[in-house]
Amino acid sequence: MPVRTASAVRQISVSALMCLARCPRWYVYEYSLGLARVGRSVAPTALRGPVEWLNASQRGQVVHAVCQKARTSEEAAEVLNSELGAYGVTEAARLELVAKLSPMIDRFLESPEARLEGVWEQPFLLNVGETVVSGVMDLVIPGAGGHVTIVDLKTNTIEKHEVKSAAEDYRIQMQAYALAAHRAMGAGRVSAVLHFLYPAERVPAEFGAGDFAAIEEGMVKLARQAAEYTLDSTSPVESHHCRTCHYSQLCWGGGGRRCDGVVERGDDAECDAPEADVGVGDDYDLSF
Ligand code: SF4
Repeated sequence: MPVRTASAVRQISVSALMCLARCPRWYVYEYSLGLARVGRSVAPTALRGPVEWLNASQRGQVVHAVCQKARTSEEAAEVLNSELGAYGVTEAARLELVAKLSPMIDRFLESPEARLEGVWEQPFLLNVGETVVSGVMDLVIPGAGGHVTIVDLKTNTIEKHEVKSAAEDYRIQMQAYALAAHRAMGAGRVSAVLHFLYPAERVPAEFGAGDFAAIEEGMVKLARQAAEYTLDSTSPVESHHCRTCHYSQLCWGGGGRRCDGVVERGDDAECDAPEADVGVGDDYDLSF
């Protein structure tokens, strides 16, 4: 019987796989070389004095926390104030953030999944070939007859016409979640819902018994590419992803191609685009 040594097994996060699918060069910069992102999320800053605004990552984490803990608008208002208090935001910023984030939270609370019993922040490890893929699902709801519903909340500020393309960027993530639910819970059918809270759009995807082998095959291929890609074997390829890429200047010099779209107040070097969405689960990244 062949012996598999621990060093032969690699770990990669779902976020890293999504990055690879988006742009191999970006993957090499961020995950192979470990270059620091501009504008990466930071921990609550209450101890560093008054905070004037939260960046997109921090806002995403606050929304996820409130959706997890509250079941009514009244509870949500209370939890939201408490979460913002942990960041030490000023009173003016608190009022503005409540006005901005409350409608997003209400959209989740009005969804059918908000009324169902499920498990929040469910971590998983997925063995695909010689690689272990790690991730955390926002909400997993077991149903009858081997049916599982998975919800992933997106807090990106995007336009309605961008939803389709954003959902495509998250396809690998949804596939990984479906495979994880199939393996760990014996799910024969998985409904995965990408819930964009701004704008209010839901993008459902259905996975059945005939899909899981193909998903695994695709993930094995991606994981193999992840192990092989280097700076020499990849090159910059301009696409709409360059607009939100943290390494645009490395590829294109000068001002790069980054952020010719909407940048919100306080976001400085951070675009509110698909890549800016950070769920709580992203804290569990185990990239190699
Ligand atoms: S700037 Fe564009 S080509 Fe360069 S790493 Fe980013 S997404 Fe890829």
